[in-house]
Amino acid sequence: FDLQNDDFTSLQEVGSGNGGSVMKVQHVPTGTIMAKKIVLIDAKPAERKKILLELQIMHDCDSPYIVSSYGAYLSEPNICICMEFMDKGSFDGIYKRIGAIDIKVVGRVAVAVVEGLRYLYDEHRIIHRDIKPSNILCNSQGDIKLCDFGVSGELINSVANTFVGTSIYMSPERIQGAPYSVKSDVWSLGITLVELSVGQFPFSGSFSDTDDDDDSDLERTPPADARPGSLRVPRSPASARRSRRRRSKGVSLHGGEMTLSIIELMHQIVNEPAPRLPAGKFGADVEEFVGACLEKDPARRSTPAQLFELPWAAYSRHNGVDMAAWAATFD
Ligand code: ADP
Ligand code: MG
Repeated sequence: FDLQNDDFTSLQEVGSGNGGSVMKVQHVPTGTIMAKKIVLIDAKPAERKKILLELQIMHDCDSPYIVSSYGAYLSEPNICICMEFMDKGSFDGIYKRIGAIDIKVVGRVAVAVVEGLRYLYDEHRIIHRDIKPSNILCNSQGDIKLCDFGVSGELINSVANTFVGTSIYMSPERIQGAPYSVKSDVWSLGITLVELSVGQFPFSGSFSDTDDDDDSDLERTPPADARPGSLRVPRSPASARRSRRRRSKGVSLHGGEMTLSIIELMHQIVNEPAPRLPAGKFGADVEEFVGACLEKDPARRSTPAQLFELPWAAYSRHNGVDMAAWAATFD
């Protein structure tokens, strides 16, 4: 494909995040429906060329667990990334519409993400870096695929938004400044699996979207290892007081108050025990798998290859769920 702006008709906006917005478009010369992601970048011409070169790697990916790419082009001051359109959207949108996802479907998500991570790492030496429900997509055929992986270090550095790269799915060691490893993605997978099966983001307090701070569904051991001060983000006593006050009322994840709540959350991730599934609700094999992801010490956390060998992964690969039929139960 030789892609350029004039060749597209916009059909519908499908969503927007920190990095930009995504449109459903038609590539008129070929009639192909695509998802076009528009990212505002702040980079010099030489860097832009490098970003485009790096995005070529996306083009070389060929896996049933990775959203395929049609290519990318510059449209000053944006970069446009054209990819396969996934008509059922992301698991983030799905669970927010239909509620907690059936655990067998969550099992299929776990398998797809592990397969996707293994493919990216084994075949291309790429670490995803941004595993979260909104980057796991579904289509009416029942396919589950990963998008938005960190192919381009240059792009990550140039996105014109300071919050890019700061994610609420970040592992404790990443928050404390350790370099990315494939095990950071495994942590993010664990948080994602809890969120999808419980139907709620597993860290509470400053992050509830409503006034309802109830996290009784989530089992926690007492915070025995709480070590205040091990977070590298400076917190003034005044800001801590302010955020405590806000937390008691419930602070929205969106909008201008995000900064403080992100810092609060990072503090929780680093200092409190890892989230867990409600005990006994989904079975020992599921708890074992999620526990292997949500090990705070990366040295003890499983790799994707080790996750692949766990009983719940083996079971979920052939658990009899008709994913296309499941996807047909919602819009
Ligand atoms: P984020 O992932 O942080 O939510 P993005 O800008 O990456 O922000 O994506 C915004 C939304 O667009 C996602 O939540 C997802 O629902 C949707 N989306 C992204 N890529 C695709 C795609 N290839 N097909 C269909 N929907 C997509
Ligand atoms: Mg995304």
